[in-house]
Amino acid sequence: MSEIISNLSIIHKRINKACAAAGRDPGEVKLLLATKTVPAEKIIQVLRQGESVIGENKVQELKEKYEALRAIPHQAHFIGHLQTNKIKEVLKYATCIQSVDRPDLAEKLQKRLESEEKTIEVFMQVNTSYEESKFGIAPENAVDFAVQLSGLDRLKLCGLMTIGIFSSEPEKVRKCFRLLKNIRTSLLEKGLNVPELSMGMSHDLETAIEEGSTMVRIGTAIFGERIYPDSYYWNEEKQVF
Ligand SMILES: *Cc1c(COP(=O)(O)O)cnc(C)c1O
Repeated sequence: MSEIISNLSIIHKRINKACAAAGRDPGEVKLLLATKTVPAEKIIQVLRQGESVIGENKVQELKEKYEALRAIPHQAHFIGHLQTNKIKEVLKYATCIQSVDRPDLAEKLQKRLESEEKTIEVFMQVNTSYEESKFGIAPENAVDFAVQLSGLDRLKLCGLMTIGIFSSEPEKVRKCFRLLKNIRTSLLEKGLNVPELSMGMSHDLETAIEEGSTMVRIGTAIFGERIYPDSYYWNEEKQVF
C-alpha cells in the first residue's frame, strides 16, 4: 500500500474516532482533499479510493489539473483567496467556492453568473481567529453578509468556512470553531438554513468535529509536507516576501 493510501486510512480512522467520541455519525463529516501543490497523479490515486471532493487554493492550479482529473467523477471546491479578476476563470473549473469573504466579490460573482445563466454553490468564509493575516469576513459582520448572500439568486449559500487559529492551545482553536457554529445558529434564528460547516485541518480535525464540523479539509496528513509555507496561499496580498 502506498504511503498516501495508508495516510488516507489513518485520516478516516481519526475522523471515525472523533465522531465516536462526540457521539456523531461519521456519515455527517465529509472529507475534502486539500490538494494545493499535489500533482494530479497523486490526487487520482486518492480519488480512486472513493474520495470525491478536492479543494484548490489557486485558480491557476485548479486549471492545470482540470484536464487530468476530468475523467474521474469528483467535485472541485475553491478554498483560496479569490481575486475578482479570476472570477470568470474559476467558474469554469470549480463546483463550489468556499472562500466568499466580501460583498464586492459576491456582487461580481452574481453578475458574472447572471450573464452565464448559471448558479454555483458557495460558502461564506469567516475570519474567526481575528488574525490580520487571514482572509474572511469579520465575525460581527457575518450575519449581515450571509443575509446579503442569500439575496443573490445565483449564489447558493450552503455553508460556512473557517481556518482555525494556529495555536498549541486547543481551547483557542476550539473558540474559532465554536464561533463559526454559533454564527450558523444565529443564521438559523433568522430563518437562514446554512447546513455545512467547513472547518478542521490536519492538526485540528478532532476539535473541529467535536464542535460540529461537517467537512474537514485535509492536505498535509494525506499528501505530506508542502514546500511552500501556508502564508504563500493565505496572505499573498497582505504580506510582502
Ligand atoms: C492547505 C489548506 C488546508 C489543509 O491544511 P493541512 O494543514 O495541510 O491539512 C485546509 N484549508 C485551507 C483553506 C488550506 O489552504
